[in-house]
Amino acid sequence: MRWALIGASRIASNHMIDAIRGQPDAQIVSVLSADPQRAESYAATHGIPHHFADLDTLLAQSDCDAVYISTTNEKHHPQAMKAIAAGKHVLCEKPLATSTTDAVEMVTQAAKRRVVFGTNHHLRNGGAHITMRDLIATGRIGKVLSVRVYHAVSLPEQLRGWRINDASAGGGVIPDITVHNVDTVRFLLGEDPVDVIAKSTTSGLGEGVEDSVMSVWTMASGTMVQSHESFTHSFARTGIEIHGTDGSIYAQNIMRQEPGGSVTLIDMRGEHEIPFDTHNMYHRALHRFTEATLGRGAPSADGIDGIKSLALALAVREAAQTGRTRTVDYSGVPQ
Ligand code: NDP
Repeated sequence: MRWALIGASRIASNHMIDAIRGQPDAQIVSVLSADPQRAESYAATHGIPHHFADLDTLLAQSDCDAVYISTTNEKHHPQAMKAIAAGKHVLCEKPLATSTTDAVEMVTQAAKRRVVFGTNHHLRNGGAHITMRDLIATGRIGKVLSVRVYHAVSLPEQLRGWRINDASAGGGVIPDITVHNVDTVRFLLGEDPVDVIAKSTTSGLGEGVEDSVMSVWTMASGTMVQSHESFTHSFARTGIEIHGTDGSIYAQNIMRQEPGGSVTLIDMRGEHEIPFDTHNMYHRALHRFTEATLGRGAPSADGIDGIKSLALALAVREAAQTGRTRTVDYSGVPQ
């Protein structure tokens, strides 16, 4: 499997280059950066043989089977469309795009062109998350009544660029973190949110985009979900609480890039620490994606998952801006 990196990003250098190279027979053959010097230095730093500053040239000259797109959010759609047209499998970062219309077009075109399309929602690959999903699916907590997701963090200094200053690049905590939370909840419960209310704030960390948001969603079954995301909380822990008629699950420090944290189940019989696998989430995502390109299974998060997480995030932003309940718009999502 020969990969091209579209975007000389931090997520690629911190996690994804290692995850791609961790797959059998996988190699990274080229990297794209809008800045030719940066393309060259990134390629040299990471031992990537070819570098490009123009996507058309990369797609024409770089003999790759798949691309991993991790540029800023507004570039995902045009870059994915070109890669799909060139017949490449696409693993795209979240959020897939800045509008659901664009995300739907990406996923629909990938299906038409018969290339594999995945969304890099890493959390659903985590051992803690898989274990929680299994506890729920096997009825250990009965009927799920409510979920609380807390995912307020302090945005690391080196990431305080486009994420907090550039709405046109897809900045803001909602496209950055809310999408992960909704993908996690959809994965855990196996159902979609129907409508949302929300409030957001801009603390002054950056310019023009929200850096904190709280929202409440109603899931299709009626289960209520409360979700909190922020870039400004230095000492908060991340976690999920899932409350059912027969028990509650408390998971702490599990909304992260590294495996770990804890999962505790409380029911009539007492409190139980639940063991789970601590494999690398990005490696598992790459494994599932690679298998899908070989005709075995599907990516852990596919294109439809990416459209749906974006649809909820956009509904949350609209609800926060208007102060009104918003129905999540899934129109155009492929069946
Ligand atoms: P970065 O800011 O690191 O990279 C985004 C773009 O900014 C790059 O494509 C690059 O442009 C440019 N850039 C990066 N570093 C520098 C630098 N030092 N100097 C100049 N330009 C630079 O973003 P992230 O890696 O944090 O995020 C990229 C994408 O990945 C986003 O869509 C984000 O939502 C997603 N993401 C997903 C995560 C996950 O766990 N699934 C975690 C983190 C991010 P160019 O390519 O033109 O050089």
